[in-house]
Amino acid sequence: MVSNLRGLCTRSICREPSSQEYWQDSKTIRAEVHLLVITIPTRRLFWEDPYGREFDATVLKVDANKVVLDQTCFYPRGGGQTADLGQIQGVRVVGVEKDDASDIIHMLEKEASFKMGEKVHGVIDWNRRHRIMKLHSAAHIVYYIMQQVFGENCKPASSGLLDDQKERTDYWFRDKVDQEKLKKVEEEANKIIEEGRVIAAWTDQDGESRFWKMDPFPVMACAGTHVKNSREIGGISVQRGKKPGKGKERIEISLSE
Ligand SMILES: [Zn+2]
Repeated sequence: MVSNLRGLCTRSICREPSSQEYWQDSKTIRAEVHLLVITIPTRRLFWEDPYGREFDATVLKVDANKVVLDQTCFYPRGGGQTADLGQIQGVRVVGVEKDDASDIIHMLEKEASFKMGEKVHGVIDWNRRHRIMKLHSAAHIVYYIMQQVFGENCKPASSGLLDDQKERTDYWFRDKVDQEKLKKVEEEANKIIEEGRVIAAWTDQDGESRFWKMDPFPVMACAGTHVKNSREIGGISVQRGKKPGKGKERIEISLSE
């Protein structure tokens, strides 16, 4: 792409291109600019700073109520974590999805009034996102403690579902959940939360995979948003949820209010 652009610049300095050359070059540039737009994924500000609540961005694509920006604080639905809500230019964002090209598509409650190339300001619903970050971090802690208390064979039967109210994960259980042991999971998790352990989250070198780590637990692959310190979670309640099917039990985490 660079060589083509340079070619055009040199030629236009040396002499005016013929109308046919001009048309071909402008077509090439338009095609390449288009390619550039669709191959650079939306910059994920929610990974760079999960505490970012507001941002400025440039509109890359608009299709009725669907908007793609060059960067965003809005987390798209994925990995069991619900999408962020909020506003772009004062218009409510009612859903956020990721497409095959890794673009993040913001769904507005009505048709967008802004156009490609315009600057916009976005604001996420921070209280909701902060609750999601606390619950997501708590889910990792509970995941490891479940195995400590119920044994290594206590593995998740689902990837978990998370919104701002609850985190729900189904585990394989041959027998009914022992309520005393589940109470122990809650106590152990709250002990770790109170200890104020540092939580790290980072992207690997190719920029495609995200990881979570909190001592003494091993690294876990996770693209979600998390708090930086376990104490920020406050406290949690761990409950048995509605039975999801034979040989499974649903474990639900909620924040202590
Ligand atoms: Zn996670």
